[in-house]
Amino acid sequence: MNVLPLAFAISLTASFEGGNIRTFQQPEPGHFVIPLPGETDQDGRNRQANWYYFRLDGVRGKPLILELTNLAGEYNYRPNKGAVTGDTPPFYSTDNRRWQPFPDFTYDAETPKLVLRITPESDTLWVAHTPPYTNEHLERLRRDIRGHPAFQEKVIGKTPKGRPMLQWTVTDPAPSAQRKVVWLMARQHSWESGTSWVAEGLVRFLLSNAPEASAIRRGAVFQMLPMCDPDGVARGGVRFNHRGYDLNRNWDEFNAESMPEIAAQHAAIAAWAKSGRPVHLFLTLHNTETAEYLDGPPAPEGSAVRELGRRLSKLLEEQPAFSASRPLAWSEATTTAGKPGRMTVVQGLWRDFRIPAFLVEQRVSRHPKLGRQPNIEDRLAFGRQLASSLWNAVRQ
Ligand SMILES: [Zn+2]
Repeated sequence: MNVLPLAFAISLTASFEGGNIRTFQQPEPGHFVIPLPGETDQDGRNRQANWYYFRLDGVRGKPLILELTNLAGEYNYRPNKGAVTGDTPPFYSTDNRRWQPFPDFTYDAETPKLVLRITPESDTLWVAHTPPYTNEHLERLRRDIRGHPAFQEKVIGKTPKGRPMLQWTVTDPAPSAQRKVVWLMARQHSWESGTSWVAEGLVRFLLSNAPEASAIRRGAVFQMLPMCDPDGVARGGVRFNHRGYDLNRNWDEFNAESMPEIAAQHAAIAAWAKSGRPVHLFLTLHNTETAEYLDGPPAPEGSAVRELGRRLSKLLEEQPAFSASRPLAWSEATTTAGKPGRMTVVQGLWRDFRIPAFLVEQRVSRHPKLGRQPNIEDRLAFGRQLASSLWNAVRQ
């Protein structure tokens, strides 16, 4: 009988905040086959499998093979090979704080599967699609910035699991009627942890002592919706809220029962708009696998909104961590394949309030300007630069 001594046992778990895998096979002690759970929407469609986050213990000095399978998915009702490919190897960490891209992997496009190889120098190895940002990270940020005179927080609603939906205001406390108004949204999709690192970089910069930051606080009000799907983030979800709804679709067909997140945010924006206060720019932050771009609302050619979009696009392109993979585009007023419930926040806010709303996608694959997959420091730095780009886009 071949019994493995207990000291050599390797364990694998995802039982922690944001963790996500459900099953695995272990054909050899150091060989794990891990089918990614993925997630489908309220109708069992649009499967996406690109959030996984797990920990292995007892691995020091042991050659590991980790096979990620069950990658295929569907996007806007069209099948695809999945969002996990050879372009998007995961990140790993020995302490769950500092993350780096997996150096040794092969991608088999036929199956499809992604096979990772590593011999860890530490006893514990954490693996995730991108460097995680959980509600715990957000709590740490809130503790750091709470009490700052230029920062205010309010709770605008509750998620299906009872978590608070937050709205942050960042501006100089001295009253002024002349300020530019920028709304910013992050994490409509729970797998897109990169957008939370960007939001954190932005808010920490805005509240800093940097001369530019205090100038921005005097000239602008930032309204932030920093965490749109805290339930999804907590359970290690991929794209859909607790009830299965995509929070960046459905802005034309939401209700407070199935999508209280959208209902709360829409009401907060409606209250702002109905009080006669302007919104000079609205931006929602997203991640994709290999694309990077800015999208605007269906504003007519020749309008001030188109001019604003071109200005923002140019300002982003000047930043060291943004390189558009396609030109600025203007969303159609119609929804995907004519189906109701497919409006993005950009389309919905344009339809309801004519708000100049934009969406920025940032890639998680190797970045042409950075020469690497964007890491936490790159995202935080982009957040600082984004504060400046947004201010320069609206100040004129
Ligand atoms: Zn997204």
